[in-house]
Amino acid sequence: MKRIAVLTSGGDAPGMNAAIRAVVRKGHYEGMEVYGINYGYAGLVAGDIRKLTRRDVGDKISRGGTFLYSARYPEFATEEGQLKGIEQLKKFGIEGLVVIGGDGSYMGAAALTRHGYPTVALPGTIDNDIPGTDFCIGFDTAINTVLDSVDKIRDTATSHVRTFIIEVMGRNAGDIALWTGVAGGAEQIVIPDIDFNMEEIANTIQKGRERGKKHSIIILAEGVMNGNEFAEELSKFGDYQARVTVLGHVQRGGSPTARDRVLSSVFGARAVDLLKVGRGGLCVGIVDNKIVENDIIETLNTKKHMPDVSLYKLNQEISY
Ligand code: ATP
Repeated sequence: MKRIAVLTSGGDAPGMNAAIRAVVRKGHYEGMEVYGINYGYAGLVAGDIRKLTRRDVGDKISRGGTFLYSARYPEFATEEGQLKGIEQLKKFGIEGLVVIGGDGSYMGAAALTRHGYPTVALPGTIDNDIPGTDFCIGFDTAINTVLDSVDKIRDTATSHVRTFIIEVMGRNAGDIALWTGVAGGAEQIVIPDIDFNMEEIANTIQKGRERGKKHSIIILAEGVMNGNEFAEELSKFGDYQARVTVLGHVQRGGSPTARDRVLSSVFGARAVDLLKVGRGGLCVGIVDNKIVENDIIETLNTKKHMPDVSLYKLNQEISY
């Protein structure tokens, strides 16, 4: 292929800019022309498409968010929307597309694949919940952002001998909670994949207090329930006066970590390698520390993202 395009879709994630940059720079390195599509699938259908030079991606590697902007565009779930998108790509003479986004964006890429349009998807979401990869672009930055807050909350929790509930993002996935729970030494991690017993949690906090523990930090994945509801439930089993912190969208922002920048760069370059030889219908990932590409339709149909629940057990063994 000689002319390809790139778009970002769904929730933004730190490292998306680094991935776009890699697609553009590697594309040019391989003698291709690279186009950028603004506002995800919405911009694709509207024809909001422009040629990107090497310089257009200068000074972007360190920035969070996505300079191509992102959008939610439910109309792309319809065949009409998908065919309009392909029509626009053909109008610009674009032969292949790189989509960077979460599972909804992957569905869009799979739909393009079903229509025979060569598409490569890269996993970009802080939730880390995409099948076919151990890690997604943005996850490492998000957990480091959360960790910074956990460390700060620990200071105040210790000073006041208090229980803190920190609600973290992740939609229905527990990855952010698991990683930040272990890294932050939280006494409890509560995630959708593992049942919990509120009375047991309360008892563990109580026992810790009796041993002279000055604080209890509970990391709660948003997919379980919201932090205030959790605090109310917990209070039924003791007078904990738990304080709730909902970290919210700060978790999506910030300059990407070195790890996210490298992952984004490697993923972006691999997407170009694949499209260059005419290979589409794929999603790129990292599995057991190796970069892999899989059939996107098969991946969506047969694979499910599983968080590393061994971290939960580990945390119980070392952070009680
Ligand atoms: P995140 O998980 O970070 O929020 P996401 O990619 O899952 O990211 P969504 O809003 O679910 O975010 O999806 C992004 C876009 O992908 C949608 O706005 C829509 O344009 C497209 N999309 C979602 N589902 C489908 C589908 N079934 N078929 C085609 N396109 C879809």
